Amino acid sequence: MIYIHVPFCKSFCTYCDFYSEIAEDSLFGPYTDQVCAEIRRRAGEMDGSLRTLYFGGGTPSQLPLSCLTRILLALEECGQGGPYTEFTMEVNPEDIVEKGLPYVQSLKALGVNRISIGVQSFDDELLRWMNRRHDAARAEEAFRLVREAGMENVSLDLIFGLSNLSDSVWEATIDKAVSLKPEHISCYQLTVEGDNVLAHRLEAGEYEEASDEYCRHQYNILCRKLSDAGYSHYEISNFAKPGFEAVHNGGYWARRPYVGLGPAAHSFTGRCRGWNESTLIDYKHTEEALSVEDEKVETLMLALRTSRGVDTDFLHGNCREEDIDRLEKAGALQRVGRRYRIPEDHFFVSDEIIRELI
Ligand code: SF4
Repeated sequence: MIYIHVPFCKSFCTYCDFYSEIAEDSLFGPYTDQVCAEIRRRAGEMDGSLRTLYFGGGTPSQLPLSCLTRILLALEECGQGGPYTEFTMEVNPEDIVEKGLPYVQSLKALGVNRISIGVQSFDDELLRWMNRRHDAARAEEAFRLVREAGMENVSLDLIFGLSNLSDSVWEATIDKAVSLKPEHISCYQLTVEGDNVLAHRLEAGEYEEASDEYCRHQYNILCRKLSDAGYSHYEISNFAKPGFEAVHNGGYWARRPYVGLGPAAHSFTGRCRGWNESTLIDYKHTEEALSVEDEKVETLMLALRTSRGVDTDFLHGNCREEDIDRLEKAGALQRVGRRYRIPEDHFFVSDEIIRELI
């Protein structure tokens, strides 16, 4: 499992707290040099399990194809070339429309077999408020181009949990997403973190956070509509048509080792968590060993995010029986064969449930 962080954006979204730089032509070359050097340096860490490659950001679709090709060649030279089981590229709708069909065809020719489109909303007013570069029509056009290029595994990203998101706008966004028939939908709750524009709006009294109750209401609408449309809710924030569950992200939840390359990328060796510094050039890599307690908490937190849940022996071996009993009686934990899971109607409060268990 290999993750490559592409820390470039053409503009910054109001709610964003990821590390990213304004995309400038002069930065792509030095960035690519650094990533290729890191690939050679860390080749020994790439064990090839799952054989997935994921370009996330930032905005990977800002990276010129020549740079992408150089990175793929460096991976190949180190014995980590394609074809990959899953090769995902996150893209911005505006880039797809601007660069057009030949760009998506080139991505496909380079081995990309899964595209994740950052749509966020199909409401133009909300998209402007988020400072996204695209509008709803461009998002739809991007989806059409991706399909025209023959991409058969497409995911759409949506956002909920905004106080200025009405039921009718939210329902229309979900309906539009469903009507396009993507294989996968990821939906994240907006949180105000760090020092971004939204945090400033909040401080200035220009934005009010949505209450938990309101977010839960929007989440329930999402779950109901996507279930009706035939998507399985296989992870708190992820929905898929049968057979299209994300392989790479599934590896994160199962605590498989992965190598994260590029500025601000995170890695996991199986015993240590590592991260690269959030700086474009000369970023340092740091690692920290996990304690037995850390491993236990991680296993529980990650596994219980999924509909597959956690192994019964693990839960009984690491949690208090009275807590398991109480949560099971309250319907917050459900035993299915050799596993315990959080039922979908309790996914929204999974953090609290997990906190009770640890
Ligand atoms: S495109 Fe993505 S990474 Fe860039 S500012 Fe927007 S949310 Fe953040």
